[in-house]
Amino acid sequence: ASRIAARVQRIKPSPSSAAADRAAELRRQGKHIVNLVVGEPDFDTPAHIRKAAFDAMERGETRYTATAGTPALRAAIAAKLQRENGLPYDPKDIIVTCGAKHAIFNALAITVEAGDEVLIPAPYWVSYPDMALACDGVPVVVPCTEEDGFKLTPALLEAAITSRTRWLIINSPTNPTGATYTGRELRALADVLLRHPNVLVMMDDIYEHIRFDSDATPHLLAIEPALASRTLVVNGVSKTYAMTGWRIGYVAGPADLIAALDTLQSQSTSNACTISQAAALAALTGDQTFVQESVQTYRARRDRALESLNAIPGISCKTPGGAFYLYVNCSGLIGRTTPQGERLEGDTDVVLYLLEQAGVALVAGSAYGVSPFFRMSIATSIDVIDEGCRKIADAVAALD
Ligand code: PLP
Repeated sequence: ASRIAARVQRIKPSPSSAAADRAAELRRQGKHIVNLVVGEPDFDTPAHIRKAAFDAMERGETRYTATAGTPALRAAIAAKLQRENGLPYDPKDIIVTCGAKHAIFNALAITVEAGDEVLIPAPYWVSYPDMALACDGVPVVVPCTEEDGFKLTPALLEAAITSRTRWLIINSPTNPTGATYTGRELRALADVLLRHPNVLVMMDDIYEHIRFDSDATPHLLAIEPALASRTLVVNGVSKTYAMTGWRIGYVAGPADLIAALDTLQSQSTSNACTISQAAALAALTGDQTFVQESVQTYRARRDRALESLNAIPGISCKTPGGAFYLYVNCSGLIGRTTPQGERLEGDTDVVLYLLEQAGVALVAGSAYGVSPFFRMSIATSIDVIDEGCRKIADAVAALD
């Protein structure tokens, strides 16, 4: 018998990490690889945030904090949720975590009983199903179509809910598609949820600031405050402030869930890094110029990549509303034959072909639950995006 517990045997390492590892391996062999896998901003953390961390260390802020985080940071998060999202949270209803990923995992851990179902609209962030499995839950994948903008519809939601449904996870803007729910769409989903009071709602807002249409969508809870008693609002500083390595996320929610998160965290990881908390405080309360500038840069890259990709016969991509990925339809390549005489059976084959033939690293749609697509990251320079698109075009032209 294995000495690894069943809950861990059930899960697999992240497919995007696997793709990145394979690209790194080829690079070690001396091959030039265009990396379009990256899931984090390519910018440095802004200087005033780095300085806040340094100053905190100099002041001696190097010890434990309360499990839920420093009072100053929780107050700043409450102020942010009010200012930007119109959500009236008290700082005591907020807990700071070691990244949004940690927040989501712990939220499932404190609520999911064996066999409980977690509704995950697909294409989904790769970690949701495995987190549900690790918490003895059952991930219920709800495939959403390109025609629906890769978004969950009220009909799909209604059909997926059962007596075992514990959670619905909504991620907007979405990794990997950039799908961004409008206020009307959230209203329609809220109407379904109001009919099912036992379903908890996880709003993963981590890409909230990386969006390309001018108007911010109202938050689900601003649209329907009655859902607040069973919703966790998950967010963090990783993507907005180029702070992925600092590991600061947070959750706001009803008192019983926040208390359970606090208890679990107090007996596992304890507080998030004290120095990073000081940095996150500066991120939330300081100058926001970086956010606007980086979004403009992402938009320019998005537009450039879309133009190049949509000019390649056999692949196409709809315009994403946010995040820093393109989810590219490659159905026109399926069934074609490579110069080596191999038939491309699905998006995994396409991605392997583009890696080996063109030296371009991407992630296959199969990792996100909807095929045949591949995910291209635009969290890299225009030059790298141009080179990648050029090489993809050449490799596609070489297919029979
Ligand atoms: N949620 C989504 C949809 C993500 O794509 C990511 C990171 O890739 C996270 C959460 C985790 O973010 P953090 O770095 O705060 O753990």
